[in-house]
Amino acid sequence: MNASAAAPREGVDWARVRADFPLLARMVHGKPLVYFDSANTGQKPLAVIEAVDGFYRRHNANVSRAVHALGAEATEAYEGARAKLAGHLDVRAEDLVLTSGTTFALNLVAYSWALPRLGPGDAILLTRMEHHANIVPWQLVAARTGATIKVAELLPDGSLDLDGLQAAMTPDVKLLGVTHVSNVLGTVNPVREICRMARKRGIATVVDGSQALPHMAVDIPAIGCDFYAFTGHKMCGPTGTGGLWARREHLQAMPPFLGGGEMIREVRFDGTVYADPPHRFEAGTPNIAGHVGLGAAVDYLDAIGMDAVAARERELHAHLEEEMRKVDGLRIVGEAPGKAAVTSFLVEGAHAHDLATLLDLEGVAVRSGHHCAHPLMHFYGVPATCRASLAFYNTHAEVEAFAAALRKVRNLLA
Ligand code: PMP
Repeated sequence: MNASAAAPREGVDWARVRADFPLLARMVHGKPLVYFDSANTGQKPLAVIEAVDGFYRRHNANVSRAVHALGAEATEAYEGARAKLAGHLDVRAEDLVLTSGTTFALNLVAYSWALPRLGPGDAILLTRMEHHANIVPWQLVAARTGATIKVAELLPDGSLDLDGLQAAMTPDVKLLGVTHVSNVLGTVNPVREICRMARKRGIATVVDGSQALPHMAVDIPAIGCDFYAFTGHKMCGPTGTGGLWARREHLQAMPPFLGGGEMIREVRFDGTVYADPPHRFEAGTPNIAGHVGLGAAVDYLDAIGMDAVAARERELHAHLEEEMRKVDGLRIVGEAPGKAAVTSFLVEGAHAHDLATLLDLEGVAVRSGHHCAHPLMHFYGVPATCRASLAFYNTHAEVEAFAAALRKVRNLLA
């Protein structure tokens, strides 16, 4: 178990790391599984599976309520996970709200921070490459406040047009939503530079870190944003986990988003005193076991080292794109320099869904569709793409199997 933790940090034994992921040994349609859909959700190492299992077997109780031993253990495990995540992101645990994922985190900013502050004449600036989770909450806020949405456009290679972005930072803009890494294109946005530009103009920044945390070391204070949202299930953790980091002054000023148990200090019918952040924003029984699992995921990733993860993925991804470029009629969508290990593609004459279905029959799991990014699909003038997304647990042999499957499918469709 957790082979990588035992391996020296210099020179990770990637075969042992892969063996930590039981699902990757599966067969699909009689073929060895090639899982190239980690941008959708990541696979889980035994360390995470066992942490969740162990919590339910030995420690299960509700948090923050019971004084008995199990209650104390559950609370310690849950708060321990928050502390591990805070260490991973270089932030203070008390500034980290645990949520069901990025979607909840972004909605929390929208409803608790933006809704009371924005009004007619204000604008929310978003980029063309945002996931729907970083578009729709702002549209809901805009509809209720009279604020408008502005869009920062892309260059044809799928990188942000930074001059255009800067020009769009007009005095009416109160908030900028930007993804750290595009889930479709793999573009890594220079969020540090972007947040510096925004801060100079008094614009608050919300960074969607969903696709960054699985691939790289992220130092939130160094980015200089106001809010950073992330999801646990793409970084080896269970589904229904994640969080929102926010500057303390924002958290202190924000009213609760949801009301209920766990988020109060005292409730009276003539007025309720809320708990301090982060608990003020965690109404109801949280996903305790899930976050315990996410804490184990953070330990697992830290044992390998995010720099080693990033280097491994760079190597695998370079191999992947080299193989893809050899396939006739294949077009890579998004060619920004320094991409994360995500490649969207199209094959001449084939619909993305047909391609993904035929690849599945070869044991290869890739995603096809709009990837919750309709405005980005409109930019490229396509309804859908196929997307191969890698993680450190993939192998060069899988890249070759994928390329062989792609050639076979291409010939079938030609
Ligand atoms: N933003 C991006 C960039 C994503 O890739 C995703 C997940 N596909 C989300 C937000 C939403 O994450 P979740 O569904 O875990 O809340």
